[in-house]
Amino acid sequence: MKKPSIYISTLLACTLIFADGMAQSKPALNSFAMAASIRPAKNVSVTKPALPNVVILATGGTIAGAAATGTQAGYTSGQVTIDAMVDAVPDAKKIATIKGEQISNVGSQDMSFEIMLKLANRINELMKSGTDGVVITHGTDTMEETAYFLNLVVKTDKPVVLVGSMRPSTAMSADGPLNLYNAISVAADPQAKNHGVMLVMNDWIHSAQSFIKVSTQAVQTFMSPMRGIMGTSNYGKNEFYRVPHKKFGNKSEFSVDGIKEMPRVDIVYGCVDMDGQMIDAAVKAKAKGIVIAGVGNGNMTKAALEAVKRANKKGVIVVRSTRVGTGDVGRDVEIKDDEYGTIASLELNPQKSRILLATALANNKKHGDLQRIFDEY
Ligand code: ASP
Repeated sequence: MKKPSIYISTLLACTLIFADGMAQSKPALNSFAMAASIRPAKNVSVTKPALPNVVILATGGTIAGAAATGTQAGYTSGQVTIDAMVDAVPDAKKIATIKGEQISNVGSQDMSFEIMLKLANRINELMKSGTDGVVITHGTDTMEETAYFLNLVVKTDKPVVLVGSMRPSTAMSADGPLNLYNAISVAADPQAKNHGVMLVMNDWIHSAQSFIKVSTQAVQTFMSPMRGIMGTSNYGKNEFYRVPHKKFGNKSEFSVDGIKEMPRVDIVYGCVDMDGQMIDAAVKAKAKGIVIAGVGNGNMTKAALEAVKRANKKGVIVVRSTRVGTGDVGRDVEIKDDEYGTIASLELNPQKSRILLATALANNKKHGDLQRIFDEY
């Protein structure tokens, strides 16, 4: 794999422009020196305030991806190390003291509960020590799942920020460096406290509770269609409009303490003429929970509902979510949840419903707790 060279040439260009600027501003510097020589020097010691400590936990993704040229669609995720990524954003060192740790280097299609548990435990450890904020570099494909999971289980009110990019580091107009700079600025910003886990990309600050990936290709791939964004980050200047609407962080009843493995929860996609076989197969595969990506308001065929009844009798929890992009799946709208033992996902899409159900089951929550949990998180 050819090493990315675009950042290096950009850096070189910036250094030359900066050097040129310094040469041209010489008279101004001279006049500062003259003023100092006229007035008697005072013994003023200026102590710069310490910069916030930000730790970047790198997991891979397109932000760490590389291709042979700057204009091709094909590339490989997770090629560039965290040190190289930080070196590409030298200005970030002016706003925070930065340390990087490589947690994994995978495309987020290969993100796993094992890596997510490692991340959660590491964040909890870091936040207990002197870290002021954490940034996680991550692929965009499953960003919403990791972000939502961390929002449920990290025990802190300090900022935790996910960031990625849609273009690899070698691309013409790569979006990674500015996204990373903005993410670091949010992680270092005291006003970002108590906003739960966030995503910062393309100048927008989203809550882990509300953002979803909406485009396979577009740079503006993340939206929070139901709740709107939480704020903006513009070249490191941050503004917040709202706080998350549901429970997270220190107020969450979930934790990862002692959890080594997450229970199996499968997603079954609803469609015309759906039969119950995929639901039965999930039960046979020993799923502890099933999320149905139902049609419309979490609906499904009569045959699928019969399979849901069978699953419920065997103690497998079934959550009704939807394949539709926006809107709540309400309890007892067309399907009587009490009759089928189902849980309505409300605002959560199937992939986030799966994360919440798996986390609740890992924390020993029972069927009777689950509708309240979907209401509150
Ligand atoms: N497949 C990549 C990933 O999720 C896509 C991206 O990061 O944009 O790692």
